Amino acid sequence: MEHVADDVAVMYLGRIVEQAPAGRLCAAPLHPYTLALFSAVPAVDPRRRRKRIVLPGDVPSPANPPAGCRFHPRCPLAERVCREVDPPPTRVDGHLVHCHVAARELERAGGDARAAGSRMAEALASAPDIYSKDVTQSVARAPAP
Ligand code: SF4
Repeated sequence: MEHVADDVAVMYLGRIVEQAPAGRLCAAPLHPYTLALFSAVPAVDPRRRRKRIVLPGDVPSPANPPAGCRFHPRCPLAERVCREVDPPPTRVDGHLVHCHVAARELERAGGDARAAGSRMAEALASAPDIYSKDVTQSVARAPAP
């Protein structure tokens, strides 16, 4: 992606949820939806282990979006505030994210998006209400064509 775009904006239900220079977004995604999207990108090297994050539920109607964070009905990291308050933008060095939890992790990490994104990915991968599977193992076990 970083080879074909300068900046990337990730949208969910008609809203930008994360935006950053392409290289930065690839290196340090922060929003749970972005992290789930990236987990679906096939690994070029089949020996690389990759956890696929499959989000629960369906995309709600954009004509009647959920209150608070629009992603909260499907977000494994959703908290009470997410259901009530639309997350404002948090900006760090040209990286913008709309997420209460990511904002908190960025603050904890002193603005280090890579560290905050890593913590977000760990929390997401261990959340109880997602379906996570090791895609690489499935590929490795698939019969030869
Ligand atoms: S604001 Fe809450 S519900 Fe929305 S993406 Fe962040 S953690 Fe998930």
